[in-house]
Amino acid sequence: MATADTAAGVRTVNHWIGGRPVESTSGRSGVVWDPATGEVQAHVAFASADEVDRAVADSARAFTDWRATPLSRRSEILFRLRELVDANRRRIAELLTSEHGKTLPDAMGEVARGLENIEFACGIPNLLKGGFSEQASRGVDVYQIRQPLGVVAGITPFNFPAMVPMWMFANAIACGNTFVLKPSEKDPSVSLFIADLLQRAGLPDGVFNVVQGDRIAVDRLLEHPDVKAVSFVGSTPVAKAIYETATRNGKRVQALGGAKNHMLVLPDADLEMAADAAISAAYGSAGERCMAISVVVAVGKVADPLIDAIRERMAKIRTGPGMDEGNEMGPLITREHRDKVASYLDAAAADGARVAVDGRNDPVCNRPGFFLGASLIDDVKPGMRCYEDEIFGPVLSVCRVDSYDEGLRLINENPFGNGTAIFTRDGGAARQFQFDCDAGMVGINVPIPVPVAYYSFGGWKGSLFGDLHMYGPEGVQFYTRSKVVTSRWPDPGTSKVDLGFPQNR
Ligand code: NAD
Repeated sequence: MATADTAAGVRTVNHWIGGRPVESTSGRSGVVWDPATGEVQAHVAFASADEVDRAVADSARAFTDWRATPLSRRSEILFRLRELVDANRRRIAELLTSEHGKTLPDAMGEVARGLENIEFACGIPNLLKGGFSEQASRGVDVYQIRQPLGVVAGITPFNFPAMVPMWMFANAIACGNTFVLKPSEKDPSVSLFIADLLQRAGLPDGVFNVVQGDRIAVDRLLEHPDVKAVSFVGSTPVAKAIYETATRNGKRVQALGGAKNHMLVLPDADLEMAADAAISAAYGSAGERCMAISVVVAVGKVADPLIDAIRERMAKIRTGPGMDEGNEMGPLITREHRDKVASYLDAAAADGARVAVDGRNDPVCNRPGFFLGASLIDDVKPGMRCYEDEIFGPVLSVCRVDSYDEGLRLINENPFGNGTAIFTRDGGAARQFQFDCDAGMVGINVPIPVPVAYYSFGGWKGSLFGDLHMYGPEGVQFYTRSKVVTSRWPDPGTSKVDLGFPQNR
């Protein structure tokens, strides 16, 4: 891996440019914590604008040959990458767990869902087929082709340090672009592991570069004239700012933001199934998922038994270091984030909600890492801070409503629109919900409806800025632009001067 040991024995996570690790010269760096112990485990270089320029220049150089590389050769490299990621699932998952904190089985799930995107991109020769209309006019054919954009950048969040980059770069490079990744500074090491695998798969130098860093690196990517498109995933305020800056600079942008995902539980729902789903979707990955369920909307008489069933399950969640077998929930990413998440429990009480389970009382909080036990807030209402903000931690809120219509209104009035789910046995109600709800991804008795790689991922409202969703067919569309060719070949028998506007004959 592209890390170097410092004199103090703490490794430094560096950049990857031109097919090899590159030590930073910026003199700036950040800390990579071990969330399970609360100790510093590495430093991460923060790129200067000059270092970003160097990576972009390298990617721009590589683009000329890469876009001319035959589709079958690109596909072959992706197939090899697929095999390498598959063979290294465990190693990648361990890296994720050590820097993010999620449990090893959860990290294995992240790798599997990322791998799907590489598998999808292996089919690029088929995905890039254009259309052809023979005889659009006499002797005239019209066809459409899709061409790559050039250097494209990906800026990714801490919560899926392997999967989200795979959402982006697999399609981007398959389409013939070169890619500069700016990973989250909180868990940066896996980006270099992936860069190394790509090189072993046969990817030419410069097609995939990594610049580590913070806002300085991001700002330079957003203004660099050779960066043609930006894919971003992260919190809503940053997504909005990135969308505005990058579009102002003439770039194509897809910026996926934060979420507040509601799960509507109708009185006829299978209660056990709904309670299992709420627990899995609220507390998996310690709630640090953009598709986590953070609000249960309980309709009518289902509320009390549902809350009892949820509490019963909460008491059994095993929280502890993600590397230890049997643990189901790990720590949060940093101490600062853990404290911020916990502060919503006090805010909830102050705003008139009822803290039914306070995770700060969980014995796991006595450990040195950034732990917080699973928490539950009842009687939550719009206007309360715990409802309005994305908490991004193991805190589940319950809103009690009297009817489907009231629940739907709550969901549709929320400024986020990433995912939502309905739990019911009534097919008609489920179909109505699918029709009515303002969200980009909908689950019917499925709490985390992350689309498979051959569909596309994206929310509505404050959860996405831009037109196209990420990965799948819309990913291919995002990373290419179309060109329509109208062609005719010399035929002495039909050629004549005609100054009229071309029309079909
Ligand atoms: P974040 O917005 O803090 O950071 C995301 C990326 O942007 C990182 O690479 C970071 O270095 C960079 N960044 C941060 N602040 C910046 C600034 N002011 N200017 C320029 N760049 C900046 O997000 P995070 O904390 O890493 O991730 C969690 C957030 O991501 C949550 O809000 C979550 O909902 C969201 N998320 C959304 C999706 C989705 O698909 N919609 C998926 C995963 C995560």
